[in-house]
Amino acid sequence: MTERTFSILKPDATERNLTGAINAVIEKAGLRIVAQKRIKMSRTDAEQFYGVHKERPFFGELVETMTSAPVVVQVLEGEGAIAKYREIMGATNPAQAADGTIRKLYAKSIGENSVHGSDAPETAKVEIAQFFPDAEIVG
Ligand code: GDP
Repeated sequence: MTERTFSILKPDATERNLTGAINAVIEKAGLRIVAQKRIKMSRTDAEQFYGVHKERPFFGELVETMTSAPVVVQVLEGEGAIAKYREIMGATNPAQAADGTIRKLYAKSIGENSVHGSDAPETAKVEIAQFFPDAEIVG
């Protein structure tokens, strides 16, 4: 089934000029970048986006990190895009990420782990809508 997922190339990735390198991994896996923009996430955006984690001890650090430098927000499209992107991202903690995954290749730590990808169809829909009007998504 063709589906869409939401992706973020996080500040640690844009700071090290890794947008193209990560996009190459994404495209090589057969996912199509059907929307993309580079933005500076506001505190309000970050708090809303990670609202599910607001009671976690790392929430403050997470919001600080996500607003510390530009991010690239994207919509990826493809066969089973949500699960496929999670697979090529690798585990949240890069120390546990499989060889060849984006986080194994590029992530610095659990807090600076280079990429975000939606975990389910419902969250993908909500996350995409937070950053992209329909007219900006061209499949
Ligand atoms: P993901 O779906 O793999 O990104 O992981 P989660 O939804 O569990 O967590 C969201 C993000 O919060 C992760 O990508 C990390 O950047 C951050 N995070 C999760 N756990 C920790 C932690 O223990 N410490 C810190 N500093 N950040 C964390």
